[in-house]
Amino acid sequence: MTIRLSKSIVGALEAEAVSRVIVEDGYLGMGSEVISFEAELAGYLGIPEDHAVCVNTGTSALHLAVAAVVKPGDEVLIPSLTYAASFQAAIAAGAEPVACDVLEESGVIDPDDAAKRITSRTAAIMPVYYASYLPNLERVYEFAREHGLRVIEDAAHAFGCTFKGRKIGSFGDIVCFSFDGIKNITSGEGGMIATRDENVLKYLRDARLLGVERDTEMRRQGRRSWEFDIKQIGYRYHMSNLMAAIGRVQLKRFDNEFAPKRKLLSNVYRKMLSDKPFITLFQSDSLEVVPHIFPVRILDGKRDDLRSYLEEQGVQTGIHYKPNHLLTLFGGGEERLPVVEKLYGELLTLPLHPELQAEDVERIGDMIIRRLTGKS
Ligand SMILES: *Cc1c(COP(=O)(O)O)cnc(C)c1O
Repeated sequence: MTIRLSKSIVGALEAEAVSRVIVEDGYLGMGSEVISFEAELAGYLGIPEDHAVCVNTGTSALHLAVAAVVKPGDEVLIPSLTYAASFQAAIAAGAEPVACDVLEESGVIDPDDAAKRITSRTAAIMPVYYASYLPNLERVYEFAREHGLRVIEDAAHAFGCTFKGRKIGSFGDIVCFSFDGIKNITSGEGGMIATRDENVLKYLRDARLLGVERDTEMRRQGRRSWEFDIKQIGYRYHMSNLMAAIGRVQLKRFDNEFAPKRKLLSNVYRKMLSDKPFITLFQSDSLEVVPHIFPVRILDGKRDDLRSYLEEQGVQTGIHYKPNHLLTLFGGGEERLPVVEKLYGELLTLPLHPELQAEDVERIGDMIIRRLTGKS
């Protein structure tokens, strides 16, 4: 039997919702389901209804967020330890992603390293909630204030998490979420931007619909603009009613079903694996974080052996992430970032999704400890 690293948790309820859109509504584009999903997401975060804008992927959310506040040729500071989406989003907006080193204990952007990379063209910083946690969020905002930068939070891992009791996305400059198949909630594919900046909101609403002015407002009234103008580049980045229908069901399941299970499983991992030889856990906060992934560090060059052993035992693992500054398009390793490069040799992501049971996690934990300590 294989234990999967991650999994979409969808079933009859999501199927019914999609079928309702197909059979009863028949309008598959961006219509009433999307408008409702946005209102419900805003309600969940505790922000005004029109401060949440849905798009077709998390990457589109990041792309539009960068395009909203950054001029072509400007630079965006991004931690190298992230999904390639963060870097590609900056490039897509004509900006230059500048890879920064990370903090060893949490894997998040290191503001001291970022400070060395400030130039006259630096316009924004994009901190990433690594494994759903961003312990130095306040320091990042202080840094941004000092240098006059916009902050685009890559909160793809952090839906449903809090910082000092406040929901991620309910404060901050521009906050981007992903609802892809394996994230904390899914809409099949999807993303959302939360911000209180009215200029950014206006840009997002038009840019996701090819730049057609005020089309979002018309669709809210169940109509469409036929006599419109376009003044800037736009994209086909809107969310469809089918995706929103899935997302609405997932949002209802999140607090009672997905969040507690993710927390429970990661707490079992933490209890089993803390203070064990050859393994170091990343910092987290069991009260505020709903973990999307569970990466650990395997020390003393033992990672690859452990990884193949787990594979043989039917346990899938991953590596989040290959540092972006090592990828050809983003510099091919010309710049050296010592902390993230060291972490890259140690990272191992263990299975985490709401269909796993505590006993599965205990079994995985036992296998890891036995293999690392050579006891069988
Ligand atoms: C998933 C993810 C994204 C992109 O989201 P998509 O919805 O897959 O486009 C961006 N950043 C990080 C850190 C992610 O994990």
